Amino acid sequence: MPSRNATRPASARIARKSDGEPEVALSRRGLERLRTGHVWVYRTDLRAPAELKGGEVVRLVDDRGWFVGKAFYGKQSQISVRLLTREDEPIDEAFFARRLAQARALREAAAPDPELRHAGRVVHGEADLLPGLVVDRYGDCLVVQTLIEATDARRELFADLLQELWKPRAIVERNDVKVRAHEGLPARKGLLRGADPGPVEFLEGEVKLVADLLEGQKTGAFLDQAENRIEAGRYARGRALDCFTYGGAFALHLARRAETVTAVDISERAAEEGRRTAARNGATNVTFQVANAFDLLRDQADEGQVYDTIVLDPPAFAKNKASLAAALRGYKEINLRAFHLLSPGGVLVTASCSFHIDEPAFERTVLGAAADAGRSVQVIERRGAARDHPTLLGVPETRYLKALILRAL
Ligand code: SAH
Repeated sequence: MPSRNATRPASARIARKSDGEPEVALSRRGLERLRTGHVWVYRTDLRAPAELKGGEVVRLVDDRGWFVGKAFYGKQSQISVRLLTREDEPIDEAFFARRLAQARALREAAAPDPELRHAGRVVHGEADLLPGLVVDRYGDCLVVQTLIEATDARRELFADLLQELWKPRAIVERNDVKVRAHEGLPARKGLLRGADPGPVEFLEGEVKLVADLLEGQKTGAFLDQAENRIEAGRYARGRALDCFTYGGAFALHLARRAETVTAVDISERAAEEGRRTAARNGATNVTFQVANAFDLLRDQADEGQVYDTIVLDPPAFAKNKASLAAALRGYKEINLRAFHLLSPGGVLVTASCSFHIDEPAFERTVLGAAADAGRSVQVIERRGAARDHPTLLGVPETRYLKALILRAL
């Protein structure tokens, strides 16, 4: 049947012997998902041999046994299959070494001057075609998250490969994250290579930041906002407010141009960290305040306070689909207060990292807030996560961070 074969990828036409991997047959819907660019297939869209334990590399086939790709298989998660390749190639150490080198090549292309890049994401999971693997770099240290059964089972291999490629002083494991529970994996943190690096100082643009790789939030810092923080710093002026400041990263960028900055977080520990970071930078115009940002925004709006620059970088309000409506109300409320507080010509940097809320929904919410506040608002920039957090076309889940830079008239 040459005509039918001709529509198949080369790898499928050549009847290559499989590398002994178990076969998983995809349903039509599963195939369609992969065909349209996604890399996940749900349990309901495939047939897998019962003896699979989870964490294996499997060979994906269609209902006639044609090769479709190779993937990590998960037994616990509803996402059973995460695509590794659409080619019929061996999935071995050399394969993963190539993927890590490709990931590194993107970072070098996006920020060619290593002096300007002291920290950043070096592997962004699915978006680097390394599903379930996240690696961040802080100076000469790496922090690793193995978020699914397959990457968790291979963490020693990844540690070896990363050690070889990046020659870090230490590799820290930050597997103390909730998503691992969906994979039946325990929370865990500690050292994979080297000794406890202690707090690691790094430069973000002109600002000195510090990450506690073992105890800080995420892998030590919110690296996805790095470029947005530098950009926000360019617009800062007058009286500035940074809500949900964590360790003060936005606040310190604002402080370089603004007269005064108020930085707000509900966590006392975050505020203390922020004060230390401000001192390190010699920034005397930043005040850290421990408060619930919702209350503070409402009270200050009621008092008629005015700011020229405001940053809203809250945690993900929508943790799942069920909390979507409440999350949208939350985003609307903080943005509404911010529009009440902004001076004419004032700039608002507003972000959402909930992947259940896509860009149009976020923009509609912010627009609703502007309308309720009676403000006309210009969009200066529509932004996402930093370039070292690429998104994968066809996988909307990788575009979780949205940021708008707005000017209220
Ligand atoms: N803007 C930070 C990251 C913010 S993470 C950066 O660029 O590094 C979200 C922060 O919001 C956390 O530090 C958390 O403690 C804080 N937070 C959560 N709920 C809050 C609330 N209701 N009011 C103020 N801060 C809150």
